[in-house]
Amino acid sequence: MDWALIGASTIASQNMIGALRSQPGGVVRWVVSGSAEHVADYAARHNIPHSGTDIAFALADPEVDAVYISSTNEKHYGQALAAIAAGKHVLCEKPLAMTTGEAASMVEAAEKAGVVFATNHHLRCSGSHQAVRDLIRAGRVGTVLSVRVFHAVHLPESLQGWRIHSADAGGGVVPDITVHDADVVRFILGEDPQSVVAQTACSGMGQGVEDSAMSIWAMPSGAMVMSHESFTHPFAGSGLEVHGTEGSIFARGVMTQRPVGEIELVTAQGRETVPFSDHNLYHFGVAQFCAAVAGTGAPAASGLDGVKSLAVAQAVRDAAATGTRVTVNYGALK
Ligand code: NDP
Repeated sequence: MDWALIGASTIASQNMIGALRSQPGGVVRWVVSGSAEHVADYAARHNIPHSGTDIAFALADPEVDAVYISSTNEKHYGQALAAIAAGKHVLCEKPLAMTTGEAASMVEAAEKAGVVFATNHHLRCSGSHQAVRDLIRAGRVGTVLSVRVFHAVHLPESLQGWRIHSADAGGGVVPDITVHDADVVRFILGEDPQSVVAQTACSGMGQGVEDSAMSIWAMPSGAMVMSHESFTHPFAGSGLEVHGTEGSIFARGVMTQRPVGEIELVTAQGRETVPFSDHNLYHFGVAQFCAAVAGTGAPAASGLDGVKSLAVAQAVRDAAATGTRVTVNYGALK
């Protein structure tokens, strides 16, 4: 599969170029970015043969099969629609768009065009999250009563740009991290939050956008979810806890881009350490995407997953802004 990168980004540089090239026949053919100087330097550093500032040239290249979009968030919508119109398969970064409505239009356009459209929610690609889901599915904790997500981190200095000062580019911890946590909860529980209450704050880093969020989500099953995200917590550590009538799962250090952390299951029989696969999260996601294009599988996170996880994040922001319980609006997509 020949790829065009839309966005000369950190995530592509650190994780995705390697992931795209890890697949059999995986070639990164183009990179497109808004800055001529930056994109030329980026292409040279990553050994990408074609680069430019006009997406149209990359999309007109018949050798390009698929596009990976990792520009800033406000650009995803227009770039994805252009790629879909050109008949390319699209793997798009989260949040899919600035609004759930735009994200839903992207999914609809891809369905009409008959191309694969997927969301790069990496956490559901990790062995740890898959092991937690499998424990729940196997009934090891009984009926799930509650979930607690700990995802308060310290945003590295190199990423303290648009994320902390530009609402226009889609900055803020809610579109950056809460959207991932929504995807995790939907993935492990297999159900979608119905309503949320929330509070957000600027706790030292955000300039005009929130850098911390706490929210509580009501699930259709009756389970309660508590979720905490931040850019300003250097020593908090991350984790995921699932508490049920027959057991509790403690997954520590697993809200990360790497296949690390530990999982413990506690039941009436005692404590057990749960093993999990340490495969690369991004390689897994790209492999699933390639299988979907080949017609032999499905994306790890579909376009609809991206829409729904964004809808939850949007509800968290709205609930914090209004101080009220907000029903999650998933729109008309099923
Ligand atoms: P970066 O800030 O590294 O890059 C995003 C864009 O900023 C680039 O595409 C480019 O814009 C512009 N840019 C960056 N560096 C320069 C430069 N030196 N000169 C000129 N322009 C520059 O973004 P991230 O990698 O942090 O995030 C990109 C997307 O990926 C976001 O949507 C984010 O939410 C998502 N993401 C997902 C992760 C995951 O694990 N799924 C992890 C991290 C991010 P342009 O190309 O438009 O000109």
